[in-house]
Amino acid sequence: MVRHVAFIGLGVMGAPMAANLVRGGFAVTGFSRSEASTDRLAAMGGRKALTLADAVSGADAVITMLPDSPDVESVMLGDNGVFAHAVKGTLIIDCSTIAPSTAVKLQETAAERGMRMIDAPVSGGESGAIDGSLSIMAGGSDEDVDSARPVLSKMGGRIVHVGGPGSGQLTKAANQLIVGGTLELIAEAIVFLESYDVDISHALEAIQGGLAGSAVLERKGMSMLRREFIPGFRVSLHDKDMRIVVDTAREAGVAIPLGNTVAALMGSLKARGFGDADHSAVVATLELLSGREKRG
Ligand code: NAD
Repeated sequence: MVRHVAFIGLGVMGAPMAANLVRGGFAVTGFSRSEASTDRLAAMGGRKALTLADAVSGADAVITMLPDSPDVESVMLGDNGVFAHAVKGTLIIDCSTIAPSTAVKLQETAAERGMRMIDAPVSGGESGAIDGSLSIMAGGSDEDVDSARPVLSKMGGRIVHVGGPGSGQLTKAANQLIVGGTLELIAEAIVFLESYDVDISHALEAIQGGLAGSAVLERKGMSMLRREFIPGFRVSLHDKDMRIVVDTAREAGVAIPLGNTVAALMGSLKARGFGDADHSAVVATLELLSGREKRG
């Protein structure tokens, strides 16, 4: 049974997820690049670790919530990393969004070293992380996913075991394809409506009530209209996710024409200096393409 959790990566998502584990009764030791975030976890009842080795020693489970595949690889495989310092049998739960192929390779290495590992990326954004309502897409063996459920249930409202190693990441890639495509179409609709005499906030309200309504429109529509791009989910992370989507689709020989367009638009947004803005800033690219810039 998991009682002691090491939580690595206390950023926008990791900090509130770790806080929910503390509230849920787990002994949580936090480690992150910025000491301020470990201090905040300690102030609300967790323990602060100054090194990765210190964080994982004595933990029954290790959760990682890091930006990208190379970050997870270095935290797992480095000389001072998780595989070098966690005891045999430790359950490793990677909640970051990374390449499915990296997830599979890491789970194979974990098994060779006598550890258990699953991929468990999440959707639901910062608000879902704060209120513990994330949708969690778990990939791994039945036994390992079942062992992780008591921990995952403190962070998520829906935990779905979608298949073997890497399946959670494949599901998350599909999720990011849908979110990116939806945002792009909402951005097109806003710039389109702005070119005519329509009360756009009322128009979005009407659209939300019909078939075109969505969680993306509900959460992002009005802030896109106001050109407020406070993250949230940063453009640089969605750019990374679209790279995963495009690469993984190509490996399978699957055509994703809209996905490729969204990847190009996200890349362009990042190149134009919007990397730290919320991904809803895609509306700024659409207005640039139409010669209707409001910002920048
Ligand atoms: P973030 O950049 O806010 O947080 C990442 C944290 O990891 C930072 O605190 C950073 O200091 C820490 N870190 C990086 N490398 C480290 C290392 N080697 N050792 C220790 N700490 C390290 O990112 P985030 O928004 O919390 O996203 C984390 C992951 O979750 C990403 O893969 C992202 O794609 C995914 N995700 C994010 C959201 C969102 O809305 N922000 C939603 C779903 C999934």
